[in-house]
Amino acid sequence: MSRWSNPEEWERLRSGESCPICLQGKPTNIIAELDVTFLTAGEETPIKGSCALFFKRHVVELYELSLEEATAFMRDAQRASKAVHEVTGAIKMNYEIHGNTIPHLHVHLFPRYVGDAFEGQPINPRVVTTSVYAPNEFADFVSKIETRLSESGK
Ligand SMILES: [Zn+2]
Repeated sequence: MSRWSNPEEWERLRSGESCPICLQGKPTNIIAELDVTFLTAGEETPIKGSCALFFKRHVVELYELSLEEATAFMRDAQRASKAVHEVTGAIKMNYEIHGNTIPHLHVHLFPRYVGDAFEGQPINPRVVTTSVYAPNEFADFVSKIETRLSESGK
C-alpha cells in the first residue's frame, strides 16, 4: 500500500496542504542552505555521504518550476553534488528524483563506492542503517561539506 491508494490524502500532499516539509517550514536534518534549496543529510542512511536537496518552495514536478527556478535548482544540485563527490572520494555520483512518499521536489544525491552494498544496482533507500559512519565521522562529513560549499559560493 502506498499513499497513492488514498486519492484525497495524496491530493492534500501534492497541493502542499498536508506536506510535512511545508507544515514544518523546512525539511529536517538541514546541513546547508543554498540558493533555492536546503541540503539535508542524516546518519541513518543506506550509504555514507548520501544527501538530499529539497526545493524551498512547494512544487511536486520538475515542470512546475519556472525556467529560472529550474536553472537555479540544477545549479544547486551541481554545487552540492560536486562537494559531496570531493569530500567522499566517491567513484560516481547518483542523482534520484522520486517524491513518491513526500511529493515535495527533492533530489537524492548518492555517492557510490567500489564494493558498496549496492554495487551493480541502484541504491535501495529502504535499506537504512545507522552504522555506515564511524563515531564522529558524520560530523566530520558535515563540516567538510560546509567548507566546500562556502568555497564554491565565492
Ligand atoms: Zn511541501
